[in-house]
Amino acid sequence: MSDQALQEEGGKASKKRDTWNHTTPVVFSPLFDWPPNLKGSILALTKRWVTISRNVLFLLMAWLVFRFFYPDMTHVQTLSVGWVGAIFLRNILFMLVITGGLHLYLFTFRVQGKRLKYDHKEQLDKSRKFSFKNQVWDNMFCSLAGGATIWSAYEVFYFWGLANGIIPSIGFLDHPVIFVLWLLVIPVLTSSHFYLIHRLLHWPPLYRRVHSVHHRNIHIGPWSGMSMHPVEQLIYISSVLIHFVIPSHPVIFLVHIYGRCLGPSFSHSGFEKLLVKDKSVLEAADFHHQLHHRFFECNYGTVDAPWDRWFGSYHNGSDEDTVRVREQRKRMYRNKPPA
Ligand SMILES: [Zn+2]
Ligand SMILES: [Zn+2]
Repeated sequence: MSDQALQEEGGKASKKRDTWNHTTPVVFSPLFDWPPNLKGSILALTKRWVTISRNVLFLLMAWLVFRFFYPDMTHVQTLSVGWVGAIFLRNILFMLVITGGLHLYLFTFRVQGKRLKYDHKEQLDKSRKFSFKNQVWDNMFCSLAGGATIWSAYEVFYFWGLANGIIPSIGFLDHPVIFVLWLLVIPVLTSSHFYLIHRLLHWPPLYRRVHSVHHRNIHIGPWSGMSMHPVEQLIYISSVLIHFVIPSHPVIFLVHIYGRCLGPSFSHSGFEKLLVKDKSVLEAADFHHQLHHRFFECNYGTVDAPWDRWFGSYHNGSDEDTVRVREQRKRMYRNKPPA
């Protein structure tokens, strides 16, 4: 390699170090690989349900909530402040414990320092673009006041509809295979729904009025996940409407909605994994969505379904892709950034 090439290579490397504190390869689920990758596909479908993961946590929470809060459905046949309020308070509590817990662990007490943190930036923003001039307080307000309310509204209407025989459902003992199939299919389903609505949200009029609220968060943390305009929260959680039409189990509905409303705390945590005494205990954020928050017009979906690869909006984390995405963005907004 010539001296000049070496210098260029070195320049690129140092540029890369400047851009990120930590990176991971962006790898899509092998489920859609061609030729088919049977072993990889089975692992991609099942791993999250049989190892220590946020999905297992959501499944456990869903089962406990269904078992102890809905022992019989008669009390939710009529809308009343009592049980509706209980759902809202429970969801607020879940958000405070899980999202707040992640924030305390990673950003307040900084238990793992900057280890496995994608962004160099240590703290979240304190700037005028956020309410209260503080990103964390602003994000908490959007998540709790808007996110938990809309989440609870979906949950209330689901259980009210179920109790009144309007919404169809299946029993676990009668249809265990269908129950498991739902679990396997939900990640692909939610990933596809997210890609679709997220592309729509980047349509400039919707971006300016709605989605720009979420994109004020360039340096992200657990509370950024559900920090959205209420219209976006309504659209984002709407993937659960599938259970209003196609029969599933209430536990499946709860797992799905917990994934929507509490999953973003992990995916926006800014850290690849949670460490306890240098040992990795839980997968957290993926680099794919971190890149979306930095470069905007790329990686609209998730790695569970390769829509970004199929439609050319994929950013793999390389400098070459950064240049391509920036040029694409300039063309889209005629040199004016959308926010
Ligand atoms: Zn996001
Ligand atoms: Zn976006």
